[in-house]
Amino acid sequence: MRHRPSAVGRTNLDIGFERSAASRFLRNHEVLGAPEVALLTKPNKNQRMSDHFFARDEYFMRLALREAQRAAEHDDVPIGAVVAHAGELIAAGHNERELRQDPTAHAETIALREAARALGSWRVLDAVLYVTLEPCAMCAGAIVLARIPRVVFGASDPKAGACGSVLDVLAEPRLNHRPDVASGLLGEECGALLSEFFASRR
Ligand code: ZN
Repeated sequence: MRHRPSAVGRTNLDIGFERSAASRFLRNHEVLGAPEVALLTKPNKNQRMSDHFFARDEYFMRLALREAQRAAEHDDVPIGAVVAHAGELIAAGHNERELRQDPTAHAETIALREAARALGSWRVLDAVLYVTLEPCAMCAGAIVLARIPRVVFGASDPKAGACGSVLDVLAEPRLNHRPDVASGLLGEECGALLSEFFASRR
């Protein structure tokens, strides 16, 4: 039986308006283990690695990791994203490409759409997007269009990453918006989730 894509939309909308959403996430999902598998991705030597993290960054990245786990429940590559606005969780999304058979249904685009709905504005200002894997060209483009001021991602993606690995859309000087980018936060856990997913399918 196919999963209903709308189920995720409903949950995410709820998240956007419930201040307790984060604690609900934690209740509903078991704490991640520490998988001892090889990383899918390693930092690219050209990547702008940053250790400019803030106290709440790990907390929100763990929520993104839980979103990523939900993608694997419907056989989608486990990538998750959340958006925090003024320190509050306002949106969450995970990869639904297989579920929806939609090439654009990446975790980031889903979370950005929900964040814009929550704010009533296509400009997602005063916000941070957390995502478990380096955004692709499409998602990096959407981040620029949404004027997101800051992006934090976990694992690098040497095959399709557009935040320093293959392209660097977020640092492109010819574009009119360049968010701050911090990478590598919980990168091993984010990468291990992907490694385990692909290993389980071999
Ligand atoms: Zn993407």
